[in-house]
Formats: sequence, C-alpha cells, structure tokens
Amino acid sequence: MNVADSMRVASALEKMGYHDTGKANDADVIILNTCVVRQSAEDKAVGRLSSLRPLKDENPNLIINLMGCMVGIKNTDVLQKRFPYVDVFSPPSDPEPLVKHLLEKEGRLHELDETLTRFAIMDGDLVLPDAVQDNLVSSFVSVVLGCSHACTYCIIPYRRGVEKSRPPQDIMQEAQSLARQGVKEITLLGQIVDRYGKDDPDYPTLGGLIRRLHTVEGIERIRFLTSHPNYMTTELLDTVANYPKAMPHIEVPIQAGNDQVLENMRRGYTNTQYRELVAQIRERIPGVSIATDIIVGFPGETETQYQDTYDLLADLKLDVAHLARYSPREGTVSARRMPDDVPDEEKWRRFRALEELQTEIVTQIHAGYLDKTIPVLFEGKSKKGRWRGRTETNKLVFVESDQDLLGKLLPVQVYWTGPWTMLAKISA
Ligand code: SAH
Repeated sequence: MNVADSMRVASALEKMGYHDTGKANDADVIILNTCVVRQSAEDKAVGRLSSLRPLKDENPNLIINLMGCMVGIKNTDVLQKRFPYVDVFSPPSDPEPLVKHLLEKEGRLHELDETLTRFAIMDGDLVLPDAVQDNLVSSFVSVVLGCSHACTYCIIPYRRGVEKSRPPQDIMQEAQSLARQGVKEITLLGQIVDRYGKDDPDYPTLGGLIRRLHTVEGIERIRFLTSHPNYMTTELLDTVANYPKAMPHIEVPIQAGNDQVLENMRRGYTNTQYRELVAQIRERIPGVSIATDIIVGFPGETETQYQDTYDLLADLKLDVAHLARYSPREGTVSARRMPDDVPDEEKWRRFRALEELQTEIVTQIHAGYLDKTIPVLFEGKSKKGRWRGRTETNKLVFVESDQDLLGKLLPVQVYWTGPWTMLAKISA
C-alpha cells in the first residue's frame, strides 16, 4: 500500500514540475513514506529520518516530508516536537499536505483546489511517474483505505483510519489509465480487501469489482490482497475460478493456529473454520496457491498453543507463510492489556522452526512445477540480467533470453525449482 501511495505522490509532484533526482542528497524535496506495523519498521524509519537531518542543516531550503503510518491520522504534535526539522507531515495515502505546502511556498496556493482536482488525488486518472513510465508491468491499486477491524495486536486501524472503499468508477478509471500506460497486471489492495464495498450499499462486492475490471482492455491479470477469512465468499472464489484474468492466488492470513490465541487476537474464527476455508478455496479454484501470515510469540502463547500453529502449517501445506515475531505496538489493545511475556529467544526459536518447516513445504510444492509448461508474465530483469516473471500462482520465475520480454505473457517450461524461485525457458 505504501508503494501505491508513494507512486501517487511522485505522480502529483511531477505534474507540478518536480522530477526524481535518484538521490536524496540532490533533492529539494524528500518524502519519507513510513511503515510502523512492527517496531523494527518504525526503528528503520526513525533511523532514515535522522540520517536526513545533516542534509537539512546544510540546505535550509530543503523540504522534508514525513508521510505514512508513522504520522497516522492524529499524531503530528508529538512528532513535530521530536523532529523539528520535518517541514510537512502527511497521513497515509494523502499527498495533499505536501502539495499544499509546495504551492504555498511558490505563492500558488489559490491553485490548490484546481491542482487537487487536476491531480485527481486518490481518484481517477493516475499518470505514472517518469521513473516507471513504459516499464511498469504490474501495479498496485488501493481499493479499500483504512481498516475498522481492530485485531488486538494491530496498529494499522489507528494510523490509517476507518475503513473506506473507493468508488468503483474511480477504480475503473485508474485501471484504464494504467492499462493505457502499458500496465498488464493490477493488484487490488485493502487491509481487508474482501470487505470491499461493505461500507456503501451502492458499491459492488470485491467479486463484482473484479468482474468489472475484467472488461478493461490491456489488463491481463488481476490479483487482490489481503483477505480476512471471515469475509471470503463463494461468490469471490467462483469469480476467481471462472474469470481467466483473476489469478488463482489467495492471501488469507490465519495469524495463529490455536483457538485461544486467535480469540486473544480477536480474529473472529477458529482453527477448524480456517481449515475448512482452505479446503473450500482448493475445491473451488483448482491449482490455487494460498498465502498466509503468522505471528509467533503473541502474549501468553504457550509451547502447546504454538504447536497448533506448527501442526496447522504442516497439515495445510500452504504456498507462502509470511512469518512475524509479535511486536507490541503502542496504543493497541494487546500492548495495553497483555504483557509481552514470550522471551525474544523463544519468539526467534518458534519463528525459525516455522521457517524451516515452510521451506520444506514450498520446496516440495515447487518441485511439482518441474517440466511443466505454464504462462509467465515478465516484469523486468534481475540483477544478474535474467528476465523475472511470475506464474499465475505468483511464483517467481527467471528466464535467460536475449529477447525483450518486458510485459510479455508467455508459456515457459520449468527446468529447475527451489524454495524461492524457479528457472525456465521459453517454450518453443
Ligand atoms: N491487514 C492485513 C495486513 C496487515 S500487516 C491483515 O490483517 O492480514 C501484515 C502482517 O503484519 C499481518 O498480517 C500480521 O501478521 C503482521 N503484524 C501486524 N501487527 C503485528 C504486530 N504487532 N507484531 C507482529 N506482526 C504484526
């Protein structure tokens, strides 16, 4: 979502006449877009921000804009005191404070309304920034902003505000403008993307939205993330199954395999319900790949409770498990009421054991791709000069070729597989 937000800011600034310098040292305006979902992300943001201070000391005209979840929707006072050298604070997904500041500085503030409509910020047309013009194959499109779910560990609802779906016509317009600029794949984003449309009776469901987007010429693949198990519908699954542009890849986090831990997290489902959901997804979408997120070391998680998570992953054999160690976030229910009592070494031990298990599982899953001929969409080149693409199931594939494969959707034959990537050659 931050990638999508950053692109929108870059696009807005370029329309005002700014351009990408490539290096912070050469810039007149520096925007730091931040994530604070875990302490490590926040530490990284603070470190980067502090490293910008000398630039500001050298060049007092430099404008520093702190953006994203570190700012949140009502956090500026504290931050202003802590980082007095920051000129502008912007909440997530909102370039307006920066645009306003720059116009004000240039004595063009009267153009604000016009500028914002012209930039169609968060709505409608999106002209891709120069840096990715003509080479962006896959783009993110935010469809649900904010989140109202309040999982006890999660800071996102506090920082991104209440859930709000974007109007379907804006999303259509954005997809069309991306397609005109050569984008072939869009990934629809929301903290709980399968709740799309639930906040407005006039909006379609996520399935309905995907069916509309399916008509956009030039867009060849549609993905979406992240889904919450409780909002996954058969209508959505059948849309994925029956509409060829909708990719058979579902990101649906479980977070923990034990019912008590799930309740403490306030996730709203049980281990059994999740297993049933996975069975249903697999039944309705043949060949589907499934990704999940897991937090180990949630407050009070015992060894046996953690073992339920291990067993669940071992049984379900999912394609991807994004693993995280619990990190208490200020202001969340778990940070306020539940002591962070699983020691760090123990969190690491659980993390590594799951990582090892999952590596074995995906190694096996990927081996099943060996010698198969499958369609791959090429997104760019790797550092080693090989073409990088993705299967329908979102697996990373590398191909050696002298041809220009950018944006091409081609059948390839897989000749090597590992836990993270596959190698293939273009099928004759
Ligand atoms: N809204 C999405 C994604 C949230 S952020 C969802 O709910 O699935 C991505 C992942 O970060 C989450 O799925 C969760 O596994 C992890 N995460 C969120 N808060 C965390 C915390 N306090 N400590 C550790 N991991 C966390």
